[in-house]
Amino acid sequence: MIQYQKVTTKAKNQRKDFLHKKSNQITNDYHAIVVEDVNLSNLAQCLSLGKKLHDNGFGMFRTMLQYKSKKKGKYYIVADKYFASSKLCSECNHKKDKLKISERIYMCDNCGTKIDRDYNAGRNLKYYGIRILHEQSIIA
Ligand SMILES: [Zn+2]
Repeated sequence: MIQYQKVTTKAKNQRKDFLHKKSNQITNDYHAIVVEDVNLSNLAQCLSLGKKLHDNGFGMFRTMLQYKSKKKGKYYIVADKYFASSKLCSECNHKKDKLKISERIYMCDNCGTKIDRDYNAGRNLKYYGIRILHEQSIIA
């Protein structure tokens, strides 16, 4: 039991260490960080991940990104929870009515764009962040 506890504690520390390194790298390299306002409990249920998602430290990672951004004078932007990062086409802004979780490739019915689903969502979040920074006159 003590051995098991040692192993899990070590694994937890390694994961935390990794999250610290990654969040440091991101907050050093970028001026603005945009995250989605996802409800982690809903997401975990949706993906049937249960406790696993929390164990993976998603929430901890966001917290790290937030306070490190603040400390370094970077912008930490949380996209509105109704922002459809996955359903929007990052090329033409067309919005899909439906997008199944199993559709890993985003195919636009309007302009024919065919790109990785997560890459498309990431680009949409980037444009979202840029728009927010424009609106707040932080960038011209
Ligand atoms: Zn399109």
